[in-house]
Amino acid sequence: MQSVYYERARDIAHALQLGSQPGARFIAGGTNLLDLMKGDVEHPVKLVDVTHAGMDQVYEQPGGALRIGATARNSDAANHPLVRERYPLLTQALLSGASPQLRNMATTAGNLLQRTRCPYFTDTAFDRCNKRMPGSGCGARDGWHRMHAILGASDACIAVNPSDMNVALAALEAVVVVAAAGGERRIPMADFHRLPGKTPQVETALQPGELITGVELPPPRFNRCHYLKLRDRASYAFALVSVAVLLQMDGGTIRAARIALGGVAHKPWRVPEAEALLAGVQLTDEVGRQVAANLLAGASAYPDNQFKLELAQRAVVRALRNAAESREGA
Ligand code: SF4
Repeated sequence: MQSVYYERARDIAHALQLGSQPGARFIAGGTNLLDLMKGDVEHPVKLVDVTHAGMDQVYEQPGGALRIGATARNSDAANHPLVRERYPLLTQALLSGASPQLRNMATTAGNLLQRTRCPYFTDTAFDRCNKRMPGSGCGARDGWHRMHAILGASDACIAVNPSDMNVALAALEAVVVVAAAGGERRIPMADFHRLPGKTPQVETALQPGELITGVELPPPRFNRCHYLKLRDRASYAFALVSVAVLLQMDGGTIRAARIALGGVAHKPWRVPEAEALLAGVQLTDEVGRQVAANLLAGASAYPDNQFKLELAQRAVVRALRNAAESREGA
């Protein structure tokens, strides 16, 4: 049995101080980290509880942006009136994830840092996983890989990011706000998560000791949205493929679009060139297929996840159609 120290931070400065020790980890809901500790995958020396560090609020900022605190519960964020009214895409994505009980505990920052559900990573009975044991190999490549990546993977790792919230935040072009001993920095969602490359164990742009304090959503400028999640069962399942769509529509014409894919890569997948294809056009399924082909350019699969290539293509077309036909509000 491994001992672990626990300390509760009273504010952000206190959290940074407590978290500066090597091997310290921040914790709030614990819905992912505690599972991984019990599974012998994560071994923090100290847990710094940031639940009471004053980061659980959702509030409007000057200029119309919205700040969602790092420890705001997923259920609270999803159901906050300003989120429901201005960012229904985020509400849809959050409510499609996990179960009500988990959403009542899970937090914004925890969701951002949620680790892959690849079974070779979460089960220490497997002896090959570059993410868990760098240099040991990837058990999924010649093993079970039905849920795995079709875009942005490397020889070292073909895992996917399991979060729904992250996909919506990517489409919304959110900014992750981070506190460190040297001050605050802001990381665009597009740069927050990394592709695996040769170091799949490094999953985000966070530096040791840095603390996520919140996520900032830019002022809303889209009037249609849809989050489509395709999975093996109707609830409490990770996405095989998901699609977050934001459209700015003027009558039947699309003025601007943002699209992010989930379940297909190590990070939410965006291709600005694909989004640009929608500017100034009327949506048809043929246009949707062109956008999907652009989004999925370079995709490749292993035997068990071949189906994702067509599933993702069809999902993009359907999500675009659903977004265009949705009620006003994004
Ligand atoms: Fe590990 Fe990534 Fe391979 Fe899964 S896909 S076994 S997480 S290296």
